[in-house]
Amino acid sequence: MPRIFDLGEYHERLTDVHLIVGEGLCSNIYVIGREEACVVDPGVGNYANPVWPQLEEIGVTPDRLRSVIITHAHHDHAMGAFLILQRADPKIFVHTLDTMYIASRFGPNLVKVEEGNVIETERWALEVIWTPGHTEGGMCLYNPEDKILISGDTVFAEAKYGTWYGESGSLDALVESLGKLAELDVEVILPGHGAPVFEGANENIRIAYQKASSRI
Ligand SMILES: [Zn+2]
Repeated sequence: MPRIFDLGEYHERLTDVHLIVGEGLCSNIYVIGREEACVVDPGVGNYANPVWPQLEEIGVTPDRLRSVIITHAHHDHAMGAFLILQRADPKIFVHTLDTMYIASRFGPNLVKVEEGNVIETERWALEVIWTPGHTEGGMCLYNPEDKILISGDTVFAEAKYGTWYGESGSLDALVESLGKLAELDVEVILPGHGAPVFEGANENIRIAYQKASSRI
């Protein structure tokens, strides 16, 4: 079964933020807030990752789910949106350049976003940072007040960075995106896979940027 972590127990700035760790090939699922909840990356949405039982355990019933943000249109991050749409009616935010792959099936729920747009959630206003490289329309989400970066598959713990050899991937673009992230002031990284980064986040991003740059 997917496991649920109350991230407020790990960092004071993450009160009312939960992480659902998926089973198998499934992204991390972040749940921001409870009353007007936002799900970032609903996961793969298969039999082993049904999403709703975990959301309900956190206290997020269908009427309380207001938004879904998809960091990029890969199956392991995005397909869970279809399970969510079976019971709830949230807005689904996807970067314009990734909408062609999957989001055409989200119908009127789809909201296309781009660099500089701000997505309001119960807990944070999240700025869209366009970070192509892993996919063309990949994006990270940043809250400058709490210095939170939701990093999708662009940067991970241990200064790891995303792959670029999938459809619409590009190493040059990925390096440029990591450089852009390296200019932010970040205290916590919530990545698309693996453990969050609670310490040394700026250094983590800087090293990832250096490592990726050396491959060009
Ligand atoms: Zn991916």
